[in-house]
Amino acid sequence: MIYSRLILLCCCFVFPKLITAQKNETNSMQKTEAWKNEVMKSLDSKKKSAQEMVDMVFSFSELGFHETKTSAYLTDILKKNGFTIEKGIAGIPTAWMAKWGTGKPVIALGSDIDCIPKASQKPGVAYKEPIVEDAPGHGEGHNSGLPLVILSAIEVKKIMERENIQGTLMIWPGVAEELVGTKAWYIRDGYFKNVDACIFTHVGNNLGVSWGDAGNNGLVSVEFKFEGSSAHSAGAPWRGKSALDAVELMNVAWNFKREHLKPTQRSHYVITDGGDQPNVVPSKAAVWYYLRERTYEDIKSMYDDAILYANSVAAMTGTKVSHRLLGTAWPGHFNKSIAEAVYKNIKTVGLPTWDSSDQQLARAVQKLVNAPKKTQRGEPIDGLATKLDTLNGPVQFSWGAGSDDIADIAWNVPTVVFRYPSNIPGTPGHNWADAIAMATPIAHKGVVSGSKVVAATLFDMLINPKIISDAWDYHKNVQTREVKYIPFVGAKTPPAIHLNKKIMDEFKPQLKKYYYDPSKYKTYLEQLGIQYPQLVK
Ligand SMILES: [Zn+2]
Repeated sequence: MIYSRLILLCCCFVFPKLITAQKNETNSMQKTEAWKNEVMKSLDSKKKSAQEMVDMVFSFSELGFHETKTSAYLTDILKKNGFTIEKGIAGIPTAWMAKWGTGKPVIALGSDIDCIPKASQKPGVAYKEPIVEDAPGHGEGHNSGLPLVILSAIEVKKIMERENIQGTLMIWPGVAEELVGTKAWYIRDGYFKNVDACIFTHVGNNLGVSWGDAGNNGLVSVEFKFEGSSAHSAGAPWRGKSALDAVELMNVAWNFKREHLKPTQRSHYVITDGGDQPNVVPSKAAVWYYLRERTYEDIKSMYDDAILYANSVAAMTGTKVSHRLLGTAWPGHFNKSIAEAVYKNIKTVGLPTWDSSDQQLARAVQKLVNAPKKTQRGEPIDGLATKLDTLNGPVQFSWGAGSDDIADIAWNVPTVVFRYPSNIPGTPGHNWADAIAMATPIAHKGVVSGSKVVAATLFDMLINPKIISDAWDYHKNVQTREVKYIPFVGAKTPPAIHLNKKIMDEFKPQLKKYYYDPSKYKTYLEQLGIQYPQLVK
């Protein structure tokens, strides 16, 4: 009796509240869905902007730390659209942060903008033909990511303004990603301190996202400089102390060491200074190493050993040695809650509709580069992707792989890397062939599809606080429960902004002649006189 009365009493007070809460939730879900549909439609009408931005950045072809035209062009677009820009962040002239909105959540949207050396290549043709011989080019596809992010942010902002939706959008570039040279510095200097979540985009060949251990390697990029004394190489070689000897001995020692490293390591070097001419004993020489492994401890151990070897060969050759950290990245680990939210929207958006020209170019390029018949996961490589990727969780085993300094952000703020299909499957990566698709309808379509996924996910995160609270729960209680982020960058390590200067000084004047002019040409392909797809020369 008492119980039933109690229940009745409870029902009278609790149920109406529950019902109102449920109604509110259904209401906000319906609204979110409506905004998502609206933003996707408006992004469909932005194909021209997508093409223009992607082609423009492609034509700038700027190497890391020298993305001056790219950064000026993109920040100008953001400024015109109401974003506040802070330039030159973390002591990096081409780095910036663009912000719009107020209060929480603060959502960071980023992508890389630099290109790679000697990858200059005409787009839309199925043969090797540089725009400027030996010049840098977008042989990785970093010309597409920020245009994607900017498209999404501008369209989402319009609805946020109209509907009074609270939140802050923060857009930022991965400067010098190919040198893994900036993101750990952004973290060190506090630029992600108040950020709630980060969606990073990277060019790929499907719509995809994953969470957990990504299976790739972290690294330190470190240059060793030796100094000895010069002498006449024939007249008095016994008086010389060769810095080049030290470099060569260091490399020999490291190559012997390989036998005793784990199979997951990757280490590679280039000699950045090998002396001037043979008849002068080189008084100065330098070698630049990337040392990669799967965990912080293993990277640190390689780093310590490399320093030990450098000091040892300096003693052997009577030279002095100094070293400097030029770049660093942690091994990747990405957020579950955000990845799941992104993947839901991937399923809604679906892959772009490729036409026969897109597929023809893709197959011709695959033939040209002798692409493997299957991916490492065993899926066939034949033209452009027509079947969506699945949502992948943590890798169970990895032989090791490349690196991206987005990991340093991901170890500090819940982050995912969202991939979009703007490139051709089966290309070698970091190669001129990887530039072919990057100013063609393949890249443009990939960017528009990708921008819809990012925009839709933004609405999910702005309206549903559970995505971000779950993201932090995963970050604190799973990702960083046992592994704590220890930066390789010291409190005073300067960013290596001197890198690539010589190459850009040499090629910028030549590349300038080929900057895209949208006032005269509908597309960059048209400007270059390319009939898409041009399969033979
Ligand atoms: Zn990249």
